[in-house]
Amino acid sequence: MSRRWLFADQLGPHFLDHRHQPVLLIESKAVFRRRAYHRQKAHLVLSALRHRAAELGDQAIFLRTETYRQALRGVREPLEVCHPTSRAALAFVRSLDRVTVLPPRGFVTAVDDFAEWADGRRGALRMEAFYRFAREHHGVLVDGGEPVGGRWSVAPENREPPPKGARRLDLPPPPMPTEDDIDAEVRADLDRWEREGVRFVGRDGPRRFPATTREATARLRHFLRHRLAHFGRYADAMLADDPWMAHSALSSSFNLGLLDPVQAVRAAERAYRRNGAPLAGVEGFIRQVLGWRDYVWNLYWYFGHGHPGRDELAGRRSVPDWFRDLDADAVRARCLSDVLGDLREHGWVQHVPRLLVLGNYAVQRGWRAAELVDLFHRGFVDGYAWAMPVNVLGMSRYADLDRKPYVAGGAYINRMSDYCGGCRYDPRQRLGADACPFTAGYWALLARDRNRLPPNARMARQLAQLDRLPDVDQVLDQERRRGDQPP
Ligand code: SF4
Repeated sequence: MSRRWLFADQLGPHFLDHRHQPVLLIESKAVFRRRAYHRQKAHLVLSALRHRAAELGDQAIFLRTETYRQALRGVREPLEVCHPTSRAALAFVRSLDRVTVLPPRGFVTAVDDFAEWADGRRGALRMEAFYRFAREHHGVLVDGGEPVGGRWSVAPENREPPPKGARRLDLPPPPMPTEDDIDAEVRADLDRWEREGVRFVGRDGPRRFPATTREATARLRHFLRHRLAHFGRYADAMLADDPWMAHSALSSSFNLGLLDPVQAVRAAERAYRRNGAPLAGVEGFIRQVLGWRDYVWNLYWYFGHGHPGRDELAGRRSVPDWFRDLDADAVRARCLSDVLGDLREHGWVQHVPRLLVLGNYAVQRGWRAAELVDLFHRGFVDGYAWAMPVNVLGMSRYADLDRKPYVAGGAYINRMSDYCGGCRYDPRQRLGADACPFTAGYWALLARDRNRLPPNARMARQLAQLDRLPDVDQVLDQERRRGDQPP
């Protein structure tokens, strides 16, 4: 049996054919020299890799070197590797003559099956259509060819605002990992690397995300038992004091390859069929894993370098330093300050603040999409080359993937969160000293880019409303003066 080279995002047992298969693991320091990653992301990746090496013991050759090439010079035998998760890594492994590249693992829908589906759709690659295809193709939550509950998606039921007056959802938080000697060694190494000049963003802190399959499985089981039932209702809501809400907080575990998404999807389906978990939560979770995650992954390969959203509202201005450095203290807008601060402290916020606060603000200001993709890749514990382009370009930016750009004014943030009550701005105001930067930014974006927005009914309604505003020119002028200063 050939030795299987596992990258640091291929760490679960489903990346091996046999539990005793010989393994090669490589830790490359050069990766961290090239770009400034969030300190807690660097910790999580190194911790997960070193934990896997410790689990495998003599079964694995574990090499710590500056570059992959240096490590590979010391390995004489033929290797095989599962299809890596970035174009750069794929080109690298294909350039090596002793390495056989196997099909991808760690996702549900095969790249070829996705391509066959996409080729037949002449460009209309809506997530909803792919999700339905995936449900039918894999037979998930399907009875006799029909979706259980009579609908393919219960997304409209996932948009409840948080309970009035609540500061947190009354749910047990996800189980936190206990750090061990490996984490202590990683922390000491990162401290030393920083002294040697390696740069990180964000702050260090206790590890909050699983580094082993055992930890990830425990978090999945806890989610299915305690949180899944509530996930559907509040999937789009935010509370300043509740970073977890009812989310699974498992994205980094899937993306490190610790958890097999097929098993997670089947486990959620069992929770519905056997234990009566509500369909809104179960279907919502499955839509994220089997639907959105696989959709994003497959589009990364399907589009190659030519994502169709790259030219639409793709931004012309550089991301300012305060945003890039996660300088939450410079920001007075409460939602943005809180979310940037959480990202700085933990390297993670759940997907709603990512899109509704960070992505929304960036689109409104016209910041460059490519810089945001890079920032989100480096700054989030679950950020990967494949995961960020469609998330940023396809939702934060307009593409033919979604019906409208994912932008909103302060009124929607106010409806879906408790941020505005404690903010010095007023979400109803678009002009003047109290004008909410999201509300003003929203109307300024529509006025500025109206000719580049998609011609559909949802945008037409918003543009008709824009035409009725008496003060658009003043709002545009105010937002021009605000520029890229922290709001
Ligand atoms: Fe954010 Fe505007 Fe609400 Fe303040 S008023 S929290 S800036 S949406």
